[in-house]
Amino acid sequence: MSLNHVRPWRNIYRRKSRQIMVGNVPVGGDAPIAVQTMTNTLTTDPAATIAQVQAAAEAGADLVRVSVPDQASAKALKEIVRESPVPIVADIHFHYKRGIEAAEAGAACLRINPGNIGDEKRVAEVIKAARDHNCSIRIGVNAGSLEKHLLEKYGEPCPDAMVESGLDHIKILQDHDFHEFKISVKASDVFMSAAAYQALAEATDAPIHLGITEAGGLVSGTIKSAIGLGQLLWMGIGDTIRVSLSADPVEEVKVGFEILKSLGLRHRGVNIISCPSCARQGFDVIKTVETLEKRLEHIKTPMSLSIIGCVVNGPGEALMTDVGFTGGGAGSGMVYLAGKASHKMSNEQMVDHIVEEVEKKAAELDATKDAAE
Ligand code: SF4
Repeated sequence: MSLNHVRPWRNIYRRKSRQIMVGNVPVGGDAPIAVQTMTNTLTTDPAATIAQVQAAAEAGADLVRVSVPDQASAKALKEIVRESPVPIVADIHFHYKRGIEAAEAGAACLRINPGNIGDEKRVAEVIKAARDHNCSIRIGVNAGSLEKHLLEKYGEPCPDAMVESGLDHIKILQDHDFHEFKISVKASDVFMSAAAYQALAEATDAPIHLGITEAGGLVSGTIKSAIGLGQLLWMGIGDTIRVSLSADPVEEVKVGFEILKSLGLRHRGVNIISCPSCARQGFDVIKTVETLEKRLEHIKTPMSLSIIGCVVNGPGEALMTDVGFTGGGAGSGMVYLAGKASHKMSNEQMVDHIVEEVEKKAAELDATKDAAE
């Protein structure tokens, strides 16, 4: 991770983990923190699932997980893997045979839950299939489905029980000389998740998949995930993340990226800095930002845009952004380019104009990047 010597208070020191490959996506080590989501279509409907995978990939997902609850789903997985622009993680519960079938179908990773995959013999068969098909494994411990003996030992789901479950399964994989794995210890409770992940980070060098499970709807789940994942990422823990929302997978990807963007851990698309607006605003800030967010969705180049209602904060914010607009009087405002006041623009034409300026700047940044490579 590049460190910021000018603003040391922005530095995040990432935990040093081992790197594995999930298909062609590196996870762990110094690889960018991968963003994942999961489809919620029927896997037996490959067309619908492929459409959802493509939409998630278009939104920036590096990996997409697909549930494999039955044999028909495992069969459909082959077509989904073939059509997917990103590696597919197969989600396996209860039936170890689905894990074997998913590996055969070309999944790049099998997510198995130690609490419900069965005895060691069955896990061994899944490991063999993964190895034979160049497939990684995620040990996905969940507070809601811990093994019976751990619940008896600890009395209730708790961080220690989750970590013990995870480490037991790491041992099984290692005993089979299988090392292409990552691990998660998810709970819907932010405190429990955070404590479990911190202990896990101390106990293993395996790449860590972060998530707050069953986080809730778009707003509540986003906040819970931002608090839970945000503090762990800030501590340097986490190599791949999934935000679980009762919402469209594309929303999960967007929220995941926003969390990473807020911490300066990854950059993608336009980072809009906007004021909440008040009686001083020279134009309708809220409506403008809503429109710009939609109109700028196609921009993938990392860049910044400030949309500020008036001169109280406008020039200051514009100083630090690639493109800026600050409301003024008489139905027009000032456009800033690379931090400098450039020209005036009427409020009516400003949205189209800002979209053009952002597209121009994105093309310029892309060209500079290509020339440097
Ligand atoms: S920048 Fe201006 S318009 Fe925006 S909230 Fe502050 S004072 Fe109000």
